[in-house]
Formats: sequence, C-alpha cells, structure tokens
Amino acid sequence: MEQLFSLNVKCPYCEKSLMDPENKINDKPSILLKIEIDDKSSFIRLSSIYGSYNHKSDLSIPERVIARFYCPHCDRQLVTKMECEECRAPMVSLNVIKGGKVIICSRKGCKKHYIAFEELSPSHKKFYSDNGLEQNQS
Ligand SMILES: [Zn+2]
Ligand SMILES: [Zn+2]
Repeated sequence: MEQLFSLNVKCPYCEKSLMDPENKINDKPSILLKIEIDDKSSFIRLSSIYGSYNHKSDLSIPERVIARFYCPHCDRQLVTKMECEECRAPMVSLNVIKGGKVIICSRKGCKKHYIAFEELSPSHKKFYSDNGLEQNQS
C-alpha cells in the first residue's frame, strides 16, 4: 500500500498557515486557498494528503481550466514562473512548514505535483532561482 502523509503548508509570502483544521478532508485539516477562474472568485479546500486530489469548493471548476490561487491572508497570487511539464499551465507553490515546497499544477484535472526540499545541492539551488521560485526573497 502506498504510504500517505499529510502536509502542513504556509503562504510563501506572509508565512501564515494555510491549514484549516475546522474543515477536514480525508480526516486531515484541509488547505484553504482563494481561487479565481475567469471573473469568479471563491475559496477552495484541498486535501492535505500528498497525492490526494480531493477538494471542496462552491465554485464549479470545469475540467482542464487553469485556476488562479491566492493566499486567503495576504491575497498574493501563489504562482511560479515554472510551467507544468505535462500541460504548460503555471505551477503553484506552497511552503511546507517543516521545510521545502509543494508544487502543484494549476490546471484542473492535471495530476502533476511534486515536493521540492530545501536541503539542496548548488545545482538544485540554481534550478530554483532560474525558475523564479525564490523571487519573493530577492
Ligand atoms: Zn499570504
Ligand atoms: Zn499540468
């Protein structure tokens, strides 16, 4: 059986927790983000289980649409300059509280996601800055 683990994430800009312990998905606190599609905005709760695509939103999200995600605390857009290797949509980055980042594709239905850890070799660090992930620290 695949081992499931849940992530505690925070905003990369204001560093406030994005966890919503009041609203659980898969029995774990959900990740609360603001979502925008076209001119409609609402909230979305994502499962904090890594590899789970369960989510709840009162906005109906059509398949294959690219959504924009924002921090519910500081309203900064959670986006990177990286493109999804599979569908070319922008990738969204959240900071993991214990260190590292979780990167997810912003296209509904695309399952591309991965975790980037911070204990990196110099070549990995270069990869990060080339792709704009460190833009908030410059
Ligand atoms: Zn924030
Ligand atoms: Zn994608």
